Amino acid sequence: MTTPAFILKDTFGYDTFRPLQSEVIENVLAGNDTLAVMPTGGGKSLCYQIPALLQDGLTLVVSPLIALMKDQVDQLRVNGVPAVFLNSSLSPEAYQENLESVQNGSAKLLYVAPETLLTPRIFSLLSNLKLDLITIDEAHCISEWGHDFRPEYRQLINVRQQFPQAVCLALTATATTRVRSDITKSLNFLQSNEFVASFDRQNLFIEVAPKSDPIAQTSRFLKHFKDQSGIIYCFSRKQVDELSAYLAREGFSVRPYHAGLADAERRANQDAFIHDDVQIIVATIAFGMGINKSNVRFVVHYDLPKSIEGYYQEIGRAGRDGLPAHCLLLYSYSDVAKLNYFIKQKEGAEKQVAAKHLDAIVRYAEDEINCRRKPLLAYFGETYTAENCKSCDNCNAAPPKLIDITIPAQKFLSCVMRSGERFGAAHITNVLRGSKAEKILQHEHNKLSTYGIGADLDQKQWMHLSRQLIQLGYLSQESEFRTLTLTPKAKDSLKKRATIMGQLQEAEARPSNSKARKTELEYNHALYYLVRQKRKELADESGVPPYVIFSDKTLVEMCAYYPQSPESLLNINGVGQAKLNQFGETFLEVIRAYCKKKGLKEKTKESSRLKTTAGQRHIIVGEAYNAGDSIQQLMERHHVKMGTIINHLEKYAVAGNSLRNSDEFRSLTNTSPEEQQAAIQAFDQLGTALLKPVFEKLGGKLTYDDLRISRLIYLTSQDPE
Ligand code: ADP
Ligand code: ZN
Repeated sequence: MTTPAFILKDTFGYDTFRPLQSEVIENVLAGNDTLAVMPTGGGKSLCYQIPALLQDGLTLVVSPLIALMKDQVDQLRVNGVPAVFLNSSLSPEAYQENLESVQNGSAKLLYVAPETLLTPRIFSLLSNLKLDLITIDEAHCISEWGHDFRPEYRQLINVRQQFPQAVCLALTATATTRVRSDITKSLNFLQSNEFVASFDRQNLFIEVAPKSDPIAQTSRFLKHFKDQSGIIYCFSRKQVDELSAYLAREGFSVRPYHAGLADAERRANQDAFIHDDVQIIVATIAFGMGINKSNVRFVVHYDLPKSIEGYYQEIGRAGRDGLPAHCLLLYSYSDVAKLNYFIKQKEGAEKQVAAKHLDAIVRYAEDEINCRRKPLLAYFGETYTAENCKSCDNCNAAPPKLIDITIPAQKFLSCVMRSGERFGAAHITNVLRGSKAEKILQHEHNKLSTYGIGADLDQKQWMHLSRQLIQLGYLSQESEFRTLTLTPKAKDSLKKRATIMGQLQEAEARPSNSKARKTELEYNHALYYLVRQKRKELADESGVPPYVIFSDKTLVEMCAYYPQSPESLLNINGVGQAKLNQFGETFLEVIRAYCKKKGLKEKTKESSRLKTTAGQRHIIVGEAYNAGDSIQQLMERHHVKMGTIINHLEKYAVAGNSLRNSDEFRSLTNTSPEEQQAAIQAFDQLGTALLKPVFEKLGGKLTYDDLRISRLIYLTSQDPE
């Protein structure tokens, strides 16, 4: 029958599975309860959508994000998949209509909020149906240890017990081992099959820049992203309002988003962003949970996030479509001080945890040497081993010019020692620079031998030096008060006067190297503008966000390869049957007209990914044929001649796959039964690898085309082993 790979291409238009998708799907289809942990944008949805299409009963999807349900259902419908949702946002009529389509079996997928699911009405609806799969999205909500515990998730266990024959699939993007085991235990997984995908998102370029003039830095950054969507995260509502007002005055297409805005305004701003009516959203971290927008091209952190986990989740909202996206964090020590101030107001364990989180993100932001992916992925328990990720600032930076900094380093280290290893970098700097600050006088640090010996460097240079000494392992920093102490390495080097190499001048914001974007396809920007416009038109007509029609990636490929026929369009990433039928002609018209005007021709795709598509075509055709499609249907579907389909089927059979036996082949040739019998005997004797010997043996009575069909008849009539 039909396979996951076939549905992937035929329905969703994708050529290859993302990591672990295929494994999760196979495991679900094998009837095992499954937990899948994948990063945002990792492609969790397909893990239940494909099984839903392969099974005859209903797939239930429990999700707490009501705002996302409509979006997901819209995306499925555009791909020709019958799906509905039931939640409080529906009118009574629409609710009833959706209910009925579940009842009469026309819907394959049903999305519900947990509180809806627990109502007797839904329970009894489901009791009368064949329920194949229960999917629990955002499954970490079930655990009190997760960051988003929802008590109603606890009751999902009852639902499971009610439908023991249904397989259960739990999905989440955030799960520590503790949360993971909580999920599998709470759901009573008989066989816990866990799949944890890598959290590395290769298409994200990750950059941290010293925050010097953030407004100017931000507008400079934004100029690289003309007409593209992105999010700017700020720490406070006030900052959001100020920055978005400033950017609007500068002519950027921008709206604010934070919890202080009236509901209606907030929603309108979010909608405008989702529908590409507005390019930039300036927001507090309140923004993003209910966002499925796949074409977010950049995320800027205008202020320092509170934790690596939050930061990673926020940058994860960029580039879900797999195209390159840029993540910029503006870092300054004054942000650390600000966050520290808030942490100091907390108490007990909460305070400690917050301080630890801050410490980790500060360490991350201050690292100017190591690949950014290392600490980020380490945070999720992964070891990143590549030497150079090619898509972070540190991996792309030219190696810094190191100079001998032994003398200032020794001044700094001995000042730390003489003041008793109880102070932070700012205080040490003040001592070295001979400040008369009260704290200095109070501790009598003006009497230290190191007082005032460092007036030759400015405050910023000393602070930068202290960070290097931490990174180089001479100093360690306590996380709560950020006091500095000497490591054995420092003591040793003071004694031996060992040379220390480093930098005295903080590198100015390194020009963001766009090497990483080289992986992006070269495409025609003028045509891109046109297809984008067409996409927006179609989206507005049907009231869905543009990315529901086609992703940016799909448009980029159209503008790189100029497909002229439905068959070529089907080769483009993200174009499946349903989308081809609905939108194919419309986009082909735009592309053809443009190409004609400019004298452009279709290009064949040479990328390895597309080679695999072409290379896999025979599998797609073979599987569809085995699933019952006729040759006529396949010709129409793929817009090719019969010979091409025969080619694919031959290739499929020769590769060792068995093919459904069908009388259809016989009707395709004019050979007599005797001639066919002779051909079959010849294949028996001579094998099927070459046609020429068979052609000759039969004295040229059968044409090569006839022989190819006879060969298929021969191959399909073999007894399966
Ligand atoms: P998640 O729920 O894990 O954040 P989604 O399921 O929303 O991720 O998928 C993110 C995006 O990636 C969607 O636009 C989806 O259509 C696309 N996608 C998923 N799987 C694939 C794949 N195998 N090939 C190409 N694109 C994919
Ligand atoms: Zn890197």
